[in-house]
Amino acid sequence: MIPNYIAQRARPLENESAFEVLSKAKALEQQGHNIVRLEIGQPDFKTPENIINAAYKAMNDGFTGYTPTVGLLETRQAIAEYVQKYKKVPADYEEVIVVPGGKPIIFFSILALVNKGDEVIYPDPGFPIYRSCIKYAGGVPVPMPLLEENDFRVDIENFKNLITDKTKMIILNNPANPTGGVLTKEDIIQIAEIIKDKDIFVLSDEVYDRIVFEGEAFSIAALPYMKDKTIILDSFSKTYAMPGWRIGYGVANKDIIKQIELLMVNSNSCAAAFSQIAAIEALTGPQDKVTEMAAAFSERRAYMAQALNEVKGMSCRMPHGAFYVFANIKETGLSSAEYAHRLLYEGKVAALSGTSFGANGEGFIRFSCANSLDNIKEAVRRIEKFNQTIMA
Ligand code: PLP
Repeated sequence: MIPNYIAQRARPLENESAFEVLSKAKALEQQGHNIVRLEIGQPDFKTPENIINAAYKAMNDGFTGYTPTVGLLETRQAIAEYVQKYKKVPADYEEVIVVPGGKPIIFFSILALVNKGDEVIYPDPGFPIYRSCIKYAGGVPVPMPLLEENDFRVDIENFKNLITDKTKMIILNNPANPTGGVLTKEDIIQIAEIIKDKDIFVLSDEVYDRIVFEGEAFSIAALPYMKDKTIILDSFSKTYAMPGWRIGYGVANKDIIKQIELLMVNSNSCAAAFSQIAAIEALTGPQDKVTEMAAAFSERRAYMAQALNEVKGMSCRMPHGAFYVFANIKETGLSSAEYAHRLLYEGKVAALSGTSFGANGEGFIRFSCANSLDNIKEAVRRIEKFNQTIMA
């Protein structure tokens, strides 16, 4: 029950179930239970040493105060160069804003662009914060189904039908959380062709674009005619194992950046100065750890997807990117929410219900591979035993 004194405006905001399940799993651990933790999407790797050292030095060098709201010039320049190199998007530093993590760019771009009644097409299943922010802004969330039978890619014909005169924004997340789906370059071009002559913006969430196992994560902003209408969202959390450093960025046209700057100055002032210096080291220093982490995620998801396909009541597509396995549990006869709940309390494995990511997640469970292969093997053993019990 929300007390009456909470403003109407605040009520549409929703929680992120990964954090809720994390609290439940922690509480069970505190009671002495051994839980295999496959709920949260945070790399289990330590931030690479060179990045930690850069932050340490930055703190000693006095980078402990405020910075310009948009970020330090050097950080914005390093990001612009990185975006050009890795995303093939020619960006000027003035088109970059540094923020605390990737999430603020979701919130701020929706607040900056979406009017009451505007429709926003978003992936379902997809990161739950999209829908929450659309609703908060007074927009109308329009789910874009990403279905298993389509390898969790956008169905272009269906997408065309979702567009109306009121469509203001489309959110793409490539590679995708929670499905591990990767859109092909052809998919992206087809989406762009459909919207290029309309006043529709794209929020392109690219936080997993260095964790791709098959195919490529093509940025829609790399299409020259889409650049001005796209807000790229990226973060250091996944690529460089830095979720606690709260550092990320947006790339957009200067008018949008100006508006996001106002939202930043009214909420955060700036991202942490030493995190911004560490970010430069992350982007310009050796990239071998990024490759190593992606290789470990690839090995784990391959193991887990194959192993779960052998488990009674389960089937699972091979994820092509990010670090999640999205398993189909329909044969067990349980709803996703019930399965996730019972798997935690009876099977002692923490995972997320597919419905935490939208109605099209019904019948699925998300397992995060951000845990060691040994722990993932143990999780599979527990899941096998759990399924035997519930399907007996
Ligand atoms: N976008 C997607 C698709 C995510 O999965 C996440 C985190 O899980 C984020 C954005 C937020 O990233 P950050 O922790 O950098 O705010």
